[in-house]
Amino acid sequence: MRVLKFGGSSLANAERFLAVSKIITDKSKESAVAVVVSAPQGITNHLVTLTETLPEEAELEQGIEHLKKAVSNIFDGVESLYPAFDRQHADQALMRWSNQLQRWLLGAAMLKYCPKHIRACVISVGERISVAILEGLLSQQQHGVSVIDPEQFLKTNESPLDAVADLVLSRQLFVDKYSDLKRIAVMPGFIGSAPSGQVTTLGRNGSDYSAAVLSVCMNAECCEIWTDVDGVFNADPRLISDAKLLDHLSYQEAMELSYFGAKVLHPKTIGPIAQYHIPCLIKNTTNPSAKGTLISSENKGEKKVKAISNLDELTMINVSGPGMKGMVGMAARVFACMSKENISLVLISQSSSEYSISFCIHSQDAYRAQQALQLEFELELLNQLLEPIELQSHLSIVSLVGDGMHHQRGMAGKLFSSLAQARVNVIAIAQDSSERSISVVIEQRKCTDALKVCHQNFFSKRQTIDAFVVGCGVVGSALLEQIARVQSKLQSQGLDLRVYGIANSKGISFNDQGINLADWREQIGTDASALSVDSVKGFVRANHLINPVLVDCTSDEDLAMQYADYLEEGIHVVTPNKKANTDSWAYYLKLRENAKKTNRLFLYETNVGAGLPVIDTLQNLFKAGDELQQFEGVLSGSLSYIFGKLDEGMSLSEATAIAKTNGFTEPDPRDDLSGMDVARKLLIMAREAGLALELHNIKVQSVLPESFDDSGSIEDFMANLKSLDQEFADKVASAKEQGKVLRYVGSINQGECQVSIEAVDSSHPLFAIKDGENALSILSHYYQPIPLVLRGYGAGAEVTAAGVFSDVLRTQAWKQDI
Ligand code: ADP
Ligand code: ASP
Ligand code: MG
Repeated sequence: MRVLKFGGSSLANAERFLAVSKIITDKSKESAVAVVVSAPQGITNHLVTLTETLPEEAELEQGIEHLKKAVSNIFDGVESLYPAFDRQHADQALMRWSNQLQRWLLGAAMLKYCPKHIRACVISVGERISVAILEGLLSQQQHGVSVIDPEQFLKTNESPLDAVADLVLSRQLFVDKYSDLKRIAVMPGFIGSAPSGQVTTLGRNGSDYSAAVLSVCMNAECCEIWTDVDGVFNADPRLISDAKLLDHLSYQEAMELSYFGAKVLHPKTIGPIAQYHIPCLIKNTTNPSAKGTLISSENKGEKKVKAISNLDELTMINVSGPGMKGMVGMAARVFACMSKENISLVLISQSSSEYSISFCIHSQDAYRAQQALQLEFELELLNQLLEPIELQSHLSIVSLVGDGMHHQRGMAGKLFSSLAQARVNVIAIAQDSSERSISVVIEQRKCTDALKVCHQNFFSKRQTIDAFVVGCGVVGSALLEQIARVQSKLQSQGLDLRVYGIANSKGISFNDQGINLADWREQIGTDASALSVDSVKGFVRANHLINPVLVDCTSDEDLAMQYADYLEEGIHVVTPNKKANTDSWAYYLKLRENAKKTNRLFLYETNVGAGLPVIDTLQNLFKAGDELQQFEGVLSGSLSYIFGKLDEGMSLSEATAIAKTNGFTEPDPRDDLSGMDVARKLLIMAREAGLALELHNIKVQSVLPESFDDSGSIEDFMANLKSLDQEFADKVASAKEQGKVLRYVGSINQGECQVSIEAVDSSHPLFAIKDGENALSILSHYYQPIPLVLRGYGAGAEVTAAGVFSDVLRTQAWKQDI
């Protein structure tokens, strides 16, 4: 004999009822079955509302009519799909129960109060209707159908709305009353009866519990819970899209999971079946061939976390004060007070100083709990031995569950680092000594973020990077193309890198699934003002993105001045834009401070030397105790090209014109020739080396002599440049006489920073640097007398974008701290 329970989700409409009837018929061919049914989906909620609002007569009639209509729709559907449906039987049942409902509710409305036992009668009507529909569907069965009335045997305590079954008595009564059942028996779930004979209900979602109790009463070989998912997943599949189906759980694991919020099973279900060693199988009505999840006493000895669950709508109560310290019996009084109010405690934590006791309850009980505690501790509160009772609501509990966590090190550590990664604050913690579960209390608004990160770190091992790219010029578009090229490869390696937002000076595009990079240009809107810290933050929150990165590929100063705010909101910043790092020293420090505070990264490897690994190398050296003694470098790709051409005898104006045509210079070559770009790079190098300098502290010798008139349009300027050709040719020639070449060099010497034209001989590391190459020669405590030299292409959209890309990828390395 097997017990099959079908939940409201399996009975949502006519098609589902037919699917359920087929499963029952098929199963009954293998063995006798006892079927427990919930109300059709939505019906219990409707009934609960009627008991809570207690409408006037006219409105009440409307409410009942609404219910009858919903049920009749199901009857119509069933009848049209299955003409042999015994409609008359179903109609009679509906009529009988709706009349009954009207009497109960009119009586309650007159009293202006609905007693709990009447509530129980009202809210259990949905289950009775489901039984009537199934009877009508199964009436043609060869062996007929028995109906089991739970009021006759399922004995509970006197709690009308959250009753607990008396298993021993129920078993005895069942055997006495139902020894002769047909091959198919049907019973409404959710319902019991108190010793007084009053109808009781087993708590919302309680039909699972009915099935467990019936399984015990019948000595069933298996209790099957049929629902709308393939089984129990390692996290709520509604919140975690890549949650994994579990094929097996121990009773204890299932108990912890359901207790801590996995709605797929009512928390009271496991107790009876575990006590009587009845296996429980979770199956999917819409996918009956799926294997499902088996819950049994078997323990497979796996050494790992099995699943993660969340329980919402909780309130934490904190009782604290100097009067608590060492006072025997305080905890007992707090908990006795809750017990007297019939309020169940979901989680308890006490500080070792005994100064406070905190516990979580369901928010619906919070007001009663507060009133009761205030009454209980009236004197202590009056005498300020206790602080006012503190309530914190809108909380969730996130729990890690698994028998295999026992004696495993590092689980709690990993949980807390994951929560830190999701920027979730832990309000309270609880772990019992069985080490089967660890629970943390957190703000409910952060619950999905917490689940996502924990699921990633404990189960899927997949990492995400949630990028927002601003600026679609040469570097920005090269970056987007590079991402598009490798996105699916990264995916197969366990990294989900998506670009959720792209903005340029004309507009912005956000997409909650990630922007399709094949045609990102077409998706950009027309409102560029839509980009702000708030809009990105709002998007990140709404979509529970846990690793957001702002990638600024502009050279915009305003945006650079917002990095501190992005970092403060928990958004990494990656950029080739030098404006932020060359703003005031105070802002430079603030960026680092904010990044540290929120555990986020500010990465700018491409600020100096484009794709060359300059910043990271320097940071690592200095971390390892090295100190900068002297620095010299060619830091500009365009000036490297121009000065290289001068060596070969080309004129300044021609070399500049070619560099401009080839795209080596900024659109306006004066930006390069003024030396300011190199000055910014040098300042960044100096600051990395610990020098608290400002941009105005850098001595800049422009490539162009002071007397030169560089005003006018770009064309005018390029034409005027010819007037300098001779002067430069002379300089080059006189350097050559001494075996030297001219280079535009940034240098740091004894804290002094300077950008100038230098003549260097062939022994100098910068002698050979031309054709757009960059070189950095670093003399340090560790690297002397031979300097550390970094050289390679230091400009160009592709290499710069690649450098930015590699910074973007470094934001996932954060996980390595876990
Ligand atoms: P029924 O109507 O069959 O009683 P419920 O809605 O009560 O169904 O329970 C099934 C739902 O439980 C699923 O649709 C799923 O959204 C939710 N659920 C929450 N946590 C889990 C989990 N860990 N595994 C499976 N389902 C879960
Ligand atoms: N119908 C009841 C409810 O909605 C019981 C159940 O479905 O398990 O809570
Ligand atoms: Mg359920």
